[in-house]
Amino acid sequence: MLLTIYFFITGLIVGSFLNVVIYRLPEEKSIVNPPSHCPHCNNRLKVIDLVPVLSYLMTGGKCRYCGTGISIQYPLIELLTAFFFLAAYLNFALSAELFLILLLLSALIVISMIDYKYMIIPNVITYSGIIIGFISAIIFDHISIFDSILGIFIPALILLAVALIFKGGMGMGDVKLVAMLGAFLGYKYSLLSIFIGSLVGSIIGITLMALGIIERKDRVPFGPLICLGAVIMIFFGEQIINLYFSLFL
Ligand SMILES: [Zn+2]
Repeated sequence: MLLTIYFFITGLIVGSFLNVVIYRLPEEKSIVNPPSHCPHCNNRLKVIDLVPVLSYLMTGGKCRYCGTGISIQYPLIELLTAFFFLAAYLNFALSAELFLILLLLSALIVISMIDYKYMIIPNVITYSGIIIGFISAIIFDHISIFDSILGIFIPALILLAVALIFKGGMGMGDVKLVAMLGAFLGYKYSLLSIFIGSLVGSIIGITLMALGIIERKDRVPFGPLICLGAVIMIFFGEQIINLYFSLFL
């Protein structure tokens, strides 16, 4: 029980760090300098302003110095991260795999938000992810080294082919993202993440087009959908693969 609370609170704190990364990485600002400040009035935030979620609730979502509204994105990302950390702990218990999963989930949150807002997926995350995923396959035994290598190349090559044939929609960022997923989770999980992401994407896309909210030519970021697919695979991968085999074999 104590560990459950511990992972939830750690998730809140990591989430508040992820907010900083999401905000500063695309603008190529340093992650650590300057210390957190209000982007509107530049007042440096005190420790009490940095308490995840609670500080947002206490100030009613406004900067306590100048009263400018703070985006609901901040507490939501903190809560989402905390929820993921809690779910990962309950799923994977204390293990080396748990820490890899926490790292991957954090990367997926940052990638989704940055891709959603700026339509880019930072190389610094995907490249380091591919390296960390591959090295951890060597050190730990959650997947074989061979599976990690296949994971880096097969899904990426398939997505690259799709991107070249159909143009638009997908970019090189998505190709590197699935390579990173494959390095961490193996090629099957990465392929299924793409599949689930495309499925959810078409359902959302068709619905939004039917409602007249978007048009056919509007570009929809694919990265967050792949990330969603990956999160589903991380938590329900075994069940999904078993279900697949029970249905088709
Ligand atoms: Zn302010």
